Amino acid sequence: MNPTNDIKIIGGGSAGWMAAATLVSQFPNKEITLIESPNISTVGVGESTIGQINNWLALLGIQDADFMPHCDASYKLSIGFENFYRKDSGQFHYPFGRPYTENNKSELNDWYFKKFLHPDTPVSDYAECLFPQMALVTQNKVHKNLDGRLPDFNFHQDVAYHFDATKFALWLRDHYCLPKGVRHVLAEVKDVKLNDDVGVEYVTLDNGGKVTADLFLDCTGFKALLIDKALKEPFESFEDVLPNNSAWATAIPYRDKEKELVGYTNCTAIDNGWVWNIPLWSRIGSGYVYSDKHVSDDDALLEFKKHIDHGEELDYRNIKMRTGTHRRTWVKNVCAIGLSSGFIEPLESNGLYTAHEFLLRLVRTLQRDHVSQWDRDVYNSATKTLLTEFKEFVAMHFALSHRDDTEYWRDVMNRQYSDNLVDMQPSFVHGYVSAVFGKMRDYRFDSDGGLHCIATGMNWFPTDFPTIQSLNYNSREKCQLPLGNDVASWEMYWKSAIDNLNNRKQDWKDSVKDAPSLFDVLRGIHMNKQIEEQT
Ligand code: FAD
Repeated sequence: MNPTNDIKIIGGGSAGWMAAATLVSQFPNKEITLIESPNISTVGVGESTIGQINNWLALLGIQDADFMPHCDASYKLSIGFENFYRKDSGQFHYPFGRPYTENNKSELNDWYFKKFLHPDTPVSDYAECLFPQMALVTQNKVHKNLDGRLPDFNFHQDVAYHFDATKFALWLRDHYCLPKGVRHVLAEVKDVKLNDDVGVEYVTLDNGGKVTADLFLDCTGFKALLIDKALKEPFESFEDVLPNNSAWATAIPYRDKEKELVGYTNCTAIDNGWVWNIPLWSRIGSGYVYSDKHVSDDDALLEFKKHIDHGEELDYRNIKMRTGTHRRTWVKNVCAIGLSSGFIEPLESNGLYTAHEFLLRLVRTLQRDHVSQWDRDVYNSATKTLLTEFKEFVAMHFALSHRDDTEYWRDVMNRQYSDNLVDMQPSFVHGYVSAVFGKMRDYRFDSDGGLHCIATGMNWFPTDFPTIQSLNYNSREKCQLPLGNDVASWEMYWKSAIDNLNNRKQDWKDSVKDAPSLFDVLRGIHMNKQIEEQT
């Protein structure tokens, strides 16, 4: 049994400081030290978060007004995807929060009947009919919804953030970790001494110091100094289903801030990958994620510049990424958090998400004070499942594409995304927790995780009569449904449900048309006013 009183965090990127903040807030009596190299830079990207960050912020007692003005932050209500299905196929959204299905005849399926009976309906209509906060997204507004005018929309759960991740880490360091007692050492780990029993016996710093710990957190980014270089835990690549391994990143000055400062991350598929657009308060973060197997770095930069079409000369930075994860991320007395533990690729903003979700599980494990092999096994199983499911989810964005306009997209379209999908028996699919592919195969869209938004946006939903008929199986009123092939009676039956979707969408829009713009709310926050005054 290993005690965990002395914890050393190696690495001072977002993951390192998030780890330090989490541990010092939950375990004020443990000794927490963060060691970071003054010479090795952080990855310097990672500006888009997802809704689950709110649970982590709440655990640490961090409020919007605390960090947003210091981190160039904005609000994020959704993710837009453009041209992923086909070249010029347009945009669809995956908003945060749960879909609103009250009064629907068949839960999430009502919209598919609408599409079946009115084929000209664009796929972008799906999110607007099911997610009340799309009324804010489409009008570029913010509303805290304290009066409940947008049903089931919980501002503090269903809104995430865009922020400068480097500034966020510095804010955590100066305003949270150091005041609460985290020790900060500026030094580079030069050598690691292993021990068969405990894992890492000590690390040697460039100042000659030898550092021991009960538990080392490896937060050294893609270097993965302890878990990979020292302990040599096998790495399982995601390359087979995720094509991208490189990125160009830049910061774009606003031309028309009130218009360009939107409340969502936009992802646009282009010739050899996709481009992110993340509006922060003072600038737009943008990057081109691509595969250097299909395009050289230089040509990718030309494509990126052409895409953003900005007159001014900007600074561009090239980043190489390794996608995959280690067989185990907690081995003996080393637990990897952040990029060192694994990385999917930036689509769906999963980097910081895995950091805070792994940290929540680490907290749960450390509550027991001592750590046994069982504790580590449970942690490893939970984090592996989380990362694997998310990887499958991100892979669906590529798997569902029908783009064939470049070699890259033809490669994407012709990959085999899951051997499991071919081999799966139905009973296995239904019983298995990690069955994103299985859900896709059977059109089993539950309301969690946005799979239904991505599938619908990418035109993966039933359009043939037999399958659409089978959706009635889930209907609350299934015994009253007209059966058979009589489309006219179907139309009559579904008219009220379709009217319900259309009326609701319009009502939501009307209800927030007078809400303040995102720009105005952020101006208030960045002038250090309270958000309450604005909404
Ligand atoms: P790093 O930032 O690389 O920090 C590593 C730290 O380790 C540094 O402080 C370094 O000095 C230290 N270090 C290294 N070696 C040593 C040593 N020998 N001794 C001492 N210290 C050492 N995530 C999101 O959530 N949203 C996004 O939109 C997003 N976009 C991304 C886009 C790209 C192209 C990439 C590559 C990643 C993106 N991510 C995103 C992921 C996100 O950037 C990371 O998850 C996050 O920044 C955490 O990084 P890190 O702290 O693990 O590593």
